[in-house]
Amino acid sequence: MRVVVVGAGLAGLSAARDLQRAGVELVVVEARDRVGGRLEGGTIEGRPVELGGTWLGEGHTRMYALVEELGLETFRTWNDEGKLLIQLGTKRALVSGTKGAVPRLNPVALADLAQGMARFGRLARSVDPAQPWAHPRAERLDGQTFESWVRRTLRTPSGRAYFRVATEAVFAADASDLSLLHALFYAVSNADLETLLAVDRGAQQDRVVGGSVLVAERMAADLDVRLSTPVTTVAQDDSGASVVTRSGETIAADRVVVALPPTLAGRLHYDPVLPAWRDQLTQRVPAGTVAKTFAAYPTPFWRDAGLNGQAASDTGPVKVTFDVSPPDGSVGILLGFVEGGEARRWQRLPEGERRRAVLDSFVRYFGPQAAESSAYVEKDWSAEEFTRGCYGAHFAPGVWTSYGPALRPPVGRVHWAGAEYAVQWNGYMEGAVRSGATTAREVLEADG
Ligand SMILES: Cc1cc2nc3c(=O)[nH]c(=O)nc-3n(C[C@H](O)[C@H](O)[C@H](O)COP(=O)(O)OP(=O)(O)OC[C@H]3O[C@@H](n4cnc5c(N)ncnc54)[C@H](O)[C@@H]3O)c2cc1C
Repeated sequence: MRVVVVGAGLAGLSAARDLQRAGVELVVVEARDRVGGRLEGGTIEGRPVELGGTWLGEGHTRMYALVEELGLETFRTWNDEGKLLIQLGTKRALVSGTKGAVPRLNPVALADLAQGMARFGRLARSVDPAQPWAHPRAERLDGQTFESWVRRTLRTPSGRAYFRVATEAVFAADASDLSLLHALFYAVSNADLETLLAVDRGAQQDRVVGGSVLVAERMAADLDVRLSTPVTTVAQDDSGASVVTRSGETIAADRVVVALPPTLAGRLHYDPVLPAWRDQLTQRVPAGTVAKTFAAYPTPFWRDAGLNGQAASDTGPVKVTFDVSPPDGSVGILLGFVEGGEARRWQRLPEGERRRAVLDSFVRYFGPQAAESSAYVEKDWSAEEFTRGCYGAHFAPGVWTSYGPALRPPVGRVHWAGAEYAVQWNGYMEGAVRSGATTAREVLEADG
């Protein structure tokens, strides 16, 4: 059997490796001049930083196994010493970096937040991540935005603000962008909301020494990957399938794996055209909006002030920060996320204003020294032709219940893979790798 995999992100590479190991003749066709897709290596002050996907965390078993198999190592996110800063409105609170720790707000806000988290957790556990649309109250959960639920369930401004910041941090979208059912699905797919937000025993626990993109680069080493070759058309008939590249070349195969985010998959031409249901799905799963910004300093000075470099705030443009200094702490590097509605406004500012706005946010959290950065780097993922938004796709109200069953099944000889297709760890590197493996099995079984 011969298979063409479209896209050399983690999902495409994972599918390709498994297929090649099963004896399939294989070519991976990648639009960019590099592999890794939403993983990209960058540098600031000569130190590697991840411009895209970064952390591995509890339960990301395939990723940890890959890291080991590929001769790489991980190191812990700076979290043990110093406190996380939470700033909601005029209130500032310092919290330990322990999983599930909540800010010391006033007792009413604290009780409100605790009951909101508990209710969300209970509801999330009732959703089957393999088929969210099958929930007995699916129509109701999918017929409202997450924002409506937050307003109805949380009674204090601080409680609501906490959920909104958490949503932006997790989805790179606003609570009004997604359906409640999607928020629940995503939480249960990734263990729970506490895991998604946590560093230790959570989704932000470890980084790959040298950068996460090394995983993709080493996975690709034994594969036939054609770089700088965007695919424009996917065709199939009774006897086989093929892809046509932007330069007009046709690459024939028995089956095609399209390992792109669903929105980009929907922008390819298909011959014959996809079933209406599947095409309409891809019209309704937008990517989030996120830019990563980095500022470098001679030392991680915030550590001396008892801060761990993590901030969560309801005032932008940067609302979430992390300390991403190298393991030896030889320079200080702050990472600031600009997400959701904040990113949509910020990305339209001129470069100088964007940088000033980011550094102003850092100053608000870590003091005047944060204005004195020696270098600044930013990466806006929605500007990327072959990504057009991150971290991943989210489902707006009504989409899971109307179109959910169209997401994963192949269409004839065309199969789908990507972080958005994963049942477990959806949206994460772990989900991408698992989805690739699932699709490889599906292709092998389809071939008999
Ligand atoms: C800023 C940011 C932070 C993130 N943080 C984390 C994190 O900390 N931890 C975590 O686990 N995950 C994180 N993620 C998510 C993670 O990076 C993704 O889930 C994962 O990398 C997706 O892999 P994929 O293979 O599904 O998709 P992609 O990586 O998007 O792969 C798709 C590939 O297809 C290519 N392509 C697109 N169009 C075409 C075409 N027409 N023809 C041929 N090729 C094409 C693309 O160039 C790309 O290489 C983050 C993502 C971003 C952007």
